[in-house]
Amino acid sequence: MNPLSEDTARLLKEAVGARGFSDDPAEMAPHLEEWRGKYKGHSPLLLKPATAAEVSSILRICNDTATPVVTQGGNTGLVGGQIPFHGEVLLSTQRLNSIRALDAGGMTVTVEAGVTLAAARQAADDRGLLFPLSLASEGSCTIGGNIATNAGGTHVLRYGMMRALVLGLEVVLPGGTVLEMLSPLHKNNTGYDLKQNFIGSEGTLGVVTAATLRLFARPDLSAVAFAAIPSPAAALKLLGAMQARTGGMMAAFELIPRIALEFVIRHVDGTRDPLAGPSPWYVLMEATGGADSNLAAAFETALAGAMQAGIATDAVVASNQAQAAALWKLRESISEAQKREGASIKHDISVPVAAIPDFLARAVPAVQAILPGARAVSFGHLGDGNLHFNFNSPQGGGDAAFLAKWDVVQQTVHDIVKDFGGSISAEHGIGVMKVGQLPRYKSHEELDAMRAIKHAFDPRGILNPGKLVPKVARL
Ligand SMILES: Cc1cc2nc3c(=O)[nH]c(=O)nc-3n(C[C@H](O)[C@H](O)[C@H](O)COP(=O)(O)OP(=O)(O)OC[C@H]3O[C@@H](n4cnc5c(N)ncnc54)[C@H](O)[C@@H]3O)c2cc1C
Repeated sequence: MNPLSEDTARLLKEAVGARGFSDDPAEMAPHLEEWRGKYKGHSPLLLKPATAAEVSSILRICNDTATPVVTQGGNTGLVGGQIPFHGEVLLSTQRLNSIRALDAGGMTVTVEAGVTLAAARQAADDRGLLFPLSLASEGSCTIGGNIATNAGGTHVLRYGMMRALVLGLEVVLPGGTVLEMLSPLHKNNTGYDLKQNFIGSEGTLGVVTAATLRLFARPDLSAVAFAAIPSPAAALKLLGAMQARTGGMMAAFELIPRIALEFVIRHVDGTRDPLAGPSPWYVLMEATGGADSNLAAAFETALAGAMQAGIATDAVVASNQAQAAALWKLRESISEAQKREGASIKHDISVPVAAIPDFLARAVPAVQAILPGARAVSFGHLGDGNLHFNFNSPQGGGDAAFLAKWDVVQQTVHDIVKDFGGSISAEHGIGVMKVGQLPRYKSHEELDAMRAIKHAFDPRGILNPGKLVPKVARL
């Protein structure tokens, strides 16, 4: 891989014009570090193409000169994929920001890659429709980044991950070829579904410049409840009961341990325990339906039945939007509250949904054997088998000693995840954070296949080198 030469820099600047690049340190600074300050990089040149044709010119020049490129959307990624660690050219999609078309009848929207998730959701909402991907980062993260990371969020239970929401893509390959695949078709069995290669590829195979996305009828009604449950096993039973009685209208089902609720009440203004007495576990759930659905009745009957059966021990159902927002705030504030409580070790894992209780029963004591007193804060998208399997440092401090065990704790947890047939990255991806760990958890046949795909699309290896695809095939 070559560092950026003066000649190449000149060609790149000519390709995008005066508004399309910056080498001003002040403008570049926010692009070189992610929001937590965990990953910092450096780059000689920020490119800001405004069209797919300009992206094509950039990638052709970079490919011809073996100049490495890192693509960046909203810079909200959590695994360092968007940071240029080795002086790569940085390609920002910030000027690819138009909503090209919205077909209300066909229920699709075609947006450029740099459109923020919030703007895409708003465009759908303005036409009485729903784009259902919902992340806490939606004001900054972009559709291109959502595609490249196959983002998830809180409503995967009902609508699936980003992969399920993409109908068509426009992608530029390293040599500059533009793959125009912006099809709105739901059915298209004409061979390899090429777009799938780029969804979740973390900027290693091509640069997504636009996408055609699925829209849905906007549900007019929603029912939100916060229920106390004795155990994660009861949460699973509750999920089954709620799905069955509401006819599959459950949109979110989030597991919350008592300790997380206590952290939130302690650290986040305007929050309180919505129930009268403590419970070891809780579920925040939401169902959505159309104006003529009997959503509220079905939801409350299902919940009452679960309480009669002893699956849930107490519950509060939001009676208006403000109450629903207050209940959601309890869930959405957990990460912030955890941070204020002190040091934490985090895992973004998934296991088969039914295995969650057994996974917790094995993995929590395994971590506490390494870190006595570590406080387990396991919460998240139970309906998707995806837990934020986190630990806070023991009460009273010792943060440095606690964090020193990060690697051994992580490997212990990930080994148990593997035993349960789970994944070491449910939502956030691999990036640089987990690239060194992949060979331990994927078979060498899978890694060889990944490398073959990488080579097919990016034979010179210019796109996001060192991310996602491990250099070593076997440990
Ligand atoms: C507060 C907060 C909450 C979050 N919650 C969630 C959550 O619930 N679920 C979840 O899945 N994630 C979550 N995330 C992570 C993050 O928001 C997502 O990964 C998001 O999809 C990244 O989008 P981005 O535009 O910021 O991408 P970036 O961070 O800019 O890039 C991420 C990766 O995508 C690549 N990339 C970006 N744009 C393109 C493109 N156009 N073409 C090719 N490659 C590209 C980059 O090279 C990089 O590898 C959260 C992050 C924060 C900060």
